[in-house]
Amino acid sequence: MSNSLDGKVALVTGGGGGIGRETAKVLVDHGARVVVADLSEDAGNGTLEYIDGGDAVAFVRADVTDLASMQHVVQAAVDRYGRLDIAHNNAGIELTGPDLADVTVEQFDKVIAVNLTGVFISMKAEIPQMLAQGGGSIINTASSLGQAAIAHQSAYVTSKHGVIGLTRAAAVEYSDKGIRVNAVLPGVIQTPMIDALEETYPGFKDALLTKHPIGRLGTPHDIAEMVAWLGSDAAAFATGSQFAVDGGYLAI
Ligand code: NAD
Repeated sequence: MSNSLDGKVALVTGGGGGIGRETAKVLVDHGARVVVADLSEDAGNGTLEYIDGGDAVAFVRADVTDLASMQHVVQAAVDRYGRLDIAHNNAGIELTGPDLADVTVEQFDKVIAVNLTGVFISMKAEIPQMLAQGGGSIINTASSLGQAAIAHQSAYVTSKHGVIGLTRAAAVEYSDKGIRVNAVLPGVIQTPMIDALEETYPGFKDALLTKHPIGRLGTPHDIAEMVAWLGSDAAAFATGSQFAVDGGYLAI
């Protein structure tokens, strides 16, 4: 089975951010045509500039917490490229700081709304199109923190554990209909999200380095190549699983 993405159409949410931007580029490099979806118009347009892929890539502004918005993105992919084969549900936000008892209900709900309900909404919008065309591959971005916890991130940890559950549930329901559903679990990846945390908590990055036996933080490219493989026919027997790309984080 080939790992080429020639002829495939992909959608990447959070495609304006660190991991999503690089994933969109790698998918284009492997032959796919890609719709980049992001809440931020500037970030999305930045991805178009970064990829410089001409007609092979398009940006659609979208909010993963809004079903109508995600249905619009899927329709845009079909209108522009005729189908939807690969969906990388990757948009996410961070909340680091308060211990659990000091996290407000609003803060908790917001993280869950984007990171977990957003993945549910995205799949709810994508699956009907994939069923109609006979299959597809969905890759949800969880995290090492979908299988482990660290302090001060209760909402985030909860949301990422939930993404793994949602991924498994969807795989059980749809794998026999040609839709494979998997989760990618990045370790700490050098992105704007991490830069923002380092600014708030100086020393954050060095502390996290000790959790990566491989001796470095990840790059968006490390994650993008896994997403491209999971989206390809080479991964035809992979579904309902969690693919850690984490420099050994979960091995400790
Ligand atoms: P990032 O902040 O660089 O990118 C996230 C993108 O999501 C941004 O462009 C943002 O505009 C977009 N976004 C936020 N809310 C949205 C919404 N409601 N609708 C649509 N788009 C929205 O972050 P990143 O590091 O690239 O993270 C991408 C994913 O990877 C997230 O799910 C994150 O939790 C996960 N992750 C990141 C790391 C890491 O170390 N960076 C580690 C594990 C998992």
